[in-house]
Amino acid sequence: MFEPKILNLEIWRRLTRPGAQLPHALLFAGPPGLGKRELAEALAARLLCERPREAFEAACGECDACLMWASGQHPDFRLLQPEASEEEEGAGTPEGEKKKASKQIRIQQVREIEAFFFVGAHRSGARVCLIDPAEAMNAVTANALLKILEEPSPSFYFLIVSHQWRRLLPTILSRCRRIMFSRPQAEAARNWLAEQKLAKGARWLPFFGDAPLAVAEAERAGRLKALEAVIQDLMKPQEPLALAGRWENLVKAESTLGMEELVIAVQKWLFDLALCAIGASPRYLPAQADALQSLAKRASLPALIQVQRQLNTLRGLANHPLNPRLFLEDLCVRAFSPLAP
Ligand SMILES: [Zn+2]
Repeated sequence: MFEPKILNLEIWRRLTRPGAQLPHALLFAGPPGLGKRELAEALAARLLCERPREAFEAACGECDACLMWASGQHPDFRLLQPEASEEEEGAGTPEGEKKKASKQIRIQQVREIEAFFFVGAHRSGARVCLIDPAEAMNAVTANALLKILEEPSPSFYFLIVSHQWRRLLPTILSRCRRIMFSRPQAEAARNWLAEQKLAKGARWLPFFGDAPLAVAEAERAGRLKALEAVIQDLMKPQEPLALAGRWENLVKAESTLGMEELVIAVQKWLFDLALCAIGASPRYLPAQADALQSLAKRASLPALIQVQRQLNTLRGLANHPLNPRLFLEDLCVRAFSPLAP
C-alpha cells in the first residue's frame, strides 16, 4: 500500500478509507498554502486511475490513465482556474509591467465544463473537474456552475478549492461537502518540507503563516532568496535611497518579489521589532531573534507603531505606484525612521 506524499494525510485517509463514498462535490476550504490543491490533484489522479485501488492508496502512476494524467492530457479531467485572456494581456498595462493572469474564471470556461459534463466519459471511469479557487467565479459564473452541480451524475466529481469559502454563494456551499484544512503541526510541516528537499525552508514557516506549501511555492518561484536579501538589508539599517535602488532591481527582476510582498515583509519585520521592544519573542522571524533584539534596543516603540500604520496605507498603493522608485524610497525612509542612529 502506498499513500501519496502530501501534507494532509489525515484528510486523505478520511476520503479514501474503506467503504468511503465520495460525494458529487467536495469543497476543500482553508487558508492558502495548506495543500488543498495538492490533495485535490492526488484525489483526482486516484479517481481517474484505472487499476483497482485499495483503501488509502494513491493512483498507481503506471496505467494508461495515470500516464495521460501525468502528461496533463487526460480527456476526462478538466481544470477550471483563472487564465490569462487575449483581451487582458497587454491592453492598458503600463509599459514594462509583467503580463498578469486574469483573476477571474470566465463564464466561457464554465460553459466548456457544461459541454464536458453532458457529453459523457471518453474512457470508462470517472470524470473529474477541479476548480481552483472557487472565489474566482463571480455571481454569474457561479450560477452557471450551479446548474451543473444540481445535476447529480454518479461518476462525475467536482473537487473545489477555496481560500475564502465564506465568500461563496450559499447555493454552491449547500451542494458541496466542505472539508476544512487547518495549519499543520510544526513537525508535520517540517517533515513535508524535508520530503520536498526544502528542509532549509522551515525557518520561513512562521513568516508564511505556518503554511508549508506557501514556503515551497516561494522557494520555487525564487522569491525566498529575494525575501532573504530584503530581511538581511533590514537587519543592517543603511542609507535608504541606495537601498531603494537595490530593491527596485529586486522587484523588477524576473519571477521574484512583488511590490506588495515587499511592503508586507517590511511590515512583518517592524512587527517583530515592536515585539522585541516590549520584551516578547518575534513572531515572523524567530530564527533572527538575536539580530531583532539588538536592533530593538535602538527603536522607539511609538514610532514603530506609527510607521506600521503608515505602511498599511502604502500597501494599498503597492500594486500600482505612480513611480516605483519614489515609492520604494518612501518605504525605505519610513522603515528605518523608528531606529535611532
Ligand atoms: Zn493508474
